[in-house]
Amino acid sequence: MAYDQDNIFARIVRGEIPCHRVYEDADTLAFMDIMPQAEGHTLVVPKSAGEDIFSTSPEAAAAAMCTAQRVARAVKKAFAPPGIMIAQLNGAAAGQSVCHLHIHVIPRYVGKDLGIHAANPADHAVLAEHAARIRAAL
Ligand code: AMP
Repeated sequence: MAYDQDNIFARIVRGEIPCHRVYEDADTLAFMDIMPQAEGHTLVVPKSAGEDIFSTSPEAAAAAMCTAQRVARAVKKAFAPPGIMIAQLNGAAAGQSVCHLHIHVIPRYVGKDLGIHAANPADHAVLAEHAARIRAAL
C-alpha cells in the first residue's frame, strides 16, 4: 500500500495538527500519545515518510531509536517508573493504527496492566503538563 501523505502523524510533523511536543530535531519528533496506555506515554516519529519498519530507511529508523532512547531517559526521570516499554507495531495484525512509523515509550509498573491501546483520550491540560515534565527532564 502506498504511503498516505495525509496520515495523522505526517500532518503533525508538518505542523498542520497540534501535538504536545516533547522533543524535536532535524530528523525526528516526539510528542504525547493522546490516548495514553500509562501516564507519560510518548511517541517518537521520524520526520521522513515511511509506513512501517519495512518501508522506512535504516537512517530514519536509527534516528527515531536514538530519540526514543533520549525520551525514555527523560520519561524515567520525570515519572520514575520501575520499567519502560519500547514498542513499535507493523501492520494492522500487529495493532498498528497509524501508518507512519512510530515508537511507543510507555512507563510500566509491577502489577499494573498496560492500559488499552488507543482507547481512552486523556485531558489535554494533563498531557500538556506531562509534556512539560518530560521536556524539563531531557
Ligand atoms: P499504533 O496503533 O501503534 O499505530 O499507535 C498509534 C498511536 O497513536 C495510538 O497509541 C494512539 O493513541 C495514538 N494517536 C492517535 N492519534 C493521535 C494524535 N493525533 N496525537 C497523538 N497520538 C495519537
